[in-house]
Amino acid sequence: MLNPLILLLVTVLSGAMAMAVLGSLWRAAIPGVGYWIAANALAIVALLAFALQGQAPRWLSLVAANELLAVALLLVLEGCLRFLGHRARPWLAYAGLVAVLLGIVYWTFVAPNFNARVALVSAYHASLYAALGVLMLRGRPASRPRYSYYFLASAALLLCVGHTARGLMYGFDLLVQTNLMQVSLPNTVFLALGVLALPFLSIGVVMLAHDRLAERLERLANVDDLTGALSRRAFLEIGGALLNASLRSNAPVAIAIVDIDSFKAVNDTHGHATGDQVLAHFAAFVAREVRVGDVFGRLGGEEFGVLCPATTAAEAVVLFERLRARLATGAPAGLPRGLRYTFSVGVDQLRRGESLAQLMARADRALYAAKAAGRDRVMAA
Ligand code: GH3
Ligand code: MG
Ligand code: MG
Repeated sequence: MLNPLILLLVTVLSGAMAMAVLGSLWRAAIPGVGYWIAANALAIVALLAFALQGQAPRWLSLVAANELLAVALLLVLEGCLRFLGHRARPWLAYAGLVAVLLGIVYWTFVAPNFNARVALVSAYHASLYAALGVLMLRGRPASRPRYSYYFLASAALLLCVGHTARGLMYGFDLLVQTNLMQVSLPNTVFLALGVLALPFLSIGVVMLAHDRLAERLERLANVDDLTGALSRRAFLEIGGALLNASLRSNAPVAIAIVDIDSFKAVNDTHGHATGDQVLAHFAAFVAREVRVGDVFGRLGGEEFGVLCPATTAAEAVVLFERLRARLATGAPAGLPRGLRYTFSVGVDQLRRGESLAQLMARADRALYAAKAAGRDRVMAA
């Protein structure tokens, strides 16, 4: 049978490797990574202290070892909370740490009881794993792939079940044991499960961190930095997919090409930085007004595109006429006093069998007609 001591030492090595992998993510400044590295470091110290049972004083090999391992798990949870953007600390879990400490001290020095200690510690671990599992299932941003979140949730829930079973078996004295290193089948099974915990959790959090890196890259590629609108590339890609879907369903699709009027004059009069502010203001203004499902992108410079599914050209004209009137009446917030701007729009509707490029070319011609007719207006092709 596997020796519990060997199991502990293998876990120590896996913790060291997890620290090395997490260390490679340190510079990416992903919230939570610092907590996860610290958790592995504490777990290593705790496991080494456990391994000294029988040789080292009990305050080290029992009290400190158990408490440090509990803190390590709490740090994993803390890291996941930070990762998901939560600010609040899990105070209840911190209170639980104090209770665990008091319990271990009591059942080590006052009324020594191995089973009571195991039951207490298992209950604490099971609760934290349950919290972690729920956090992962509930906290996944809707736009991210499920895989890494579900992996960590499954690992946490599995470990929660394992610790619950362990706590119940020892708590109700179904297993009789006097020290952790005793070689018995159930003890080895539970230790093996515990050994899996650290690599499981570490692989899970590393996957989370990688998903965050992927999200950043996707954002860089798909979202225009200044305005938050889709980049031209992403607009063409998502727009193309939208046209295909509409052709299949025979629903109308309208496009609007929108260009800010006399923008060069804004730059020349107020400076390039104010020009940037106007671009950001305009994009935020449009993004607020378009509907869910509309595709809004920056095509270049001060020119934007909006694709509206299930919308006819006539309806799009009404929509943009309303936007135009709204911008013309209100003073734009956040821009230098007295700075007003207008925009022109060319609108058209998808014809059967044509490409996005053909549709955009016709809307572009409508836009030029709007400019030629004096700007600050919406024109359909
Ligand atoms: P029109 O009404 O005919 O559209 O005239 P316009 O001045 O808006 O158009 P024009 O194409 O002559 O000028 C566009 C200007 O937009 C020129 C360019 O320097 C400026 N521009 C392009 N991209 C940016 C940007 O990211 N920030 C700023 N501040 N200006 C930009
Ligand atoms: Mg312009
Ligand atoms: Mg332009």
